[in-house]
Amino acid sequence: MTSYPVPDASGFVKLDAMENPFALPPDLAAKLGEHLAGVALNRYPAPRPDALIDKIKRTMGVPPDCDVLLGNGSDEIISMITVACAKPGAKVLAPEPGFVMYAMSAKFAHVGFVGVPLRADFTLDADAMLAAIAEHEPAVIWLAYPNNPTGTLFDDGAIERIIAAASKSLVVIDEAYQPFAQHSWMPRAGEFDNVVVMRTVSKLGLAGIRLGYLAGRPTWLNEFDKVRPPYNINVLTQAAATFLLDHVDVLDAQAAQLRVERGKLAAEVAALPGAQVFDSAGNFLLVRVPDASAVFETLLSARVLIKNVSKMHPLLANCVRLTVGAPDENARLVAALKLVLN
Ligand SMILES: *Cc1c(COP(=O)(O)O)cnc(C)c1O
Repeated sequence: MTSYPVPDASGFVKLDAMENPFALPPDLAAKLGEHLAGVALNRYPAPRPDALIDKIKRTMGVPPDCDVLLGNGSDEIISMITVACAKPGAKVLAPEPGFVMYAMSAKFAHVGFVGVPLRADFTLDADAMLAAIAEHEPAVIWLAYPNNPTGTLFDDGAIERIIAAASKSLVVIDEAYQPFAQHSWMPRAGEFDNVVVMRTVSKLGLAGIRLGYLAGRPTWLNEFDKVRPPYNINVLTQAAATFLLDHVDVLDAQAAQLRVERGKLAAEVAALPGAQVFDSAGNFLLVRVPDASAVFETLLSARVLIKNVSKMHPLLANCVRLTVGAPDENARLVAALKLVLN
């Protein structure tokens, strides 16, 4: 296998990793700095960061009957869930194309991975999912809502059918892009005995602090907590998140601006010859072009970094994924796309 590739982006317009392009307002950043200066760096983190967990519950609308488990990014939560179910013969299942860490974590833990192809329009093939669930009895079913790299917000009715059929599985609804989707299963996180909801602050604008969270019934979370590395959330991350959740309106406003930019960028790219833009509920667009390698290379020469996903899965043939950036970044992206598509 190969390691997860993260290209060096210095000097580039970085539109490959779904980051929020906006910085914190300077006065807020200065206050955060003061707050972080008071953190005891000489001490290990507290065994359970209750203040942060309570604030996440309140700010993010976690239902009262649910608990919250924290991860060093939701990538670590994916890993913990996979490890927790990794008895011999165990399998996990996810629609394909989907988020690569589900399959990678399975591989690391010697867990079988079952990928169920989406339909050609990237909607969920519920019948195929149900057949695969019956055949493989997976321990875990991953559903990214919306999906990466397609941007699709899967149909709620199809998800309900999967939950009902998956009586021997845990269904994890991965809401990494919730700030851009404005649809959520969080209010229903405690409703089923086989559903948990996973989120992250990464795409909201805090990718650098590495903080993900899982909401669900305590009976599930207590099991995953057993394989959580001690001290997995460092004191600076805890302090930064605790402080910034009191100012989450700032990040929400940035997300709202990016949703507007997403609409503008989609219209501009769709107007270019040969470009097919798929509907996206994330802060990125999946675009089919005549030649994905030519588009990637031309953008690279123009110092714009995007992701060529065309080799990830046959359904993604000649597709690239564009992160929605700030207005000036999107303008550079469109200008560079014109060089190759016109
Ligand atoms: C980005 C992403 C994550 C991981 O985010 P973290 O930065 O590790 O919190 C999880 N799921 C999906 C679908 C993603 O795109």
